[in-house]
Amino acid sequence: MNEYQKALKILKYIVQDMFDINPHVMVMDIDFMSSIEELVERATPKKVTKLSESYIQCNACNVIIELDEDKTMPHFCEFCGRKLDWEKEEI
Ligand SMILES: [Zn+2]
Repeated sequence: MNEYQKALKILKYIVQDMFDINPHVMVMDIDFMSSIEELVERATPKKVTKLSESYIQCNACNVIIELDEDKTMPHFCEFCGRKLDWEKEEI
């Protein structure tokens, strides 16, 4: 669990406490929480699949990405914005 996932877990407890005190709070918070969950998901590294020397596949959106001529490994998927994990790449 990374720092963003921990922060989200704490936030969920806080929102649950607010809901326990006042059930009307949750109605306002549904979109707000799903937006934060989406951000945490994007910031959580997901391993890439290396298809060849020049192509990788993002395992979040399944798009195939062509690397630059210098084979620089991007930190984020240029299509879905997901943080890419190169240390655990699938070959
Ligand atoms: Zn992607």
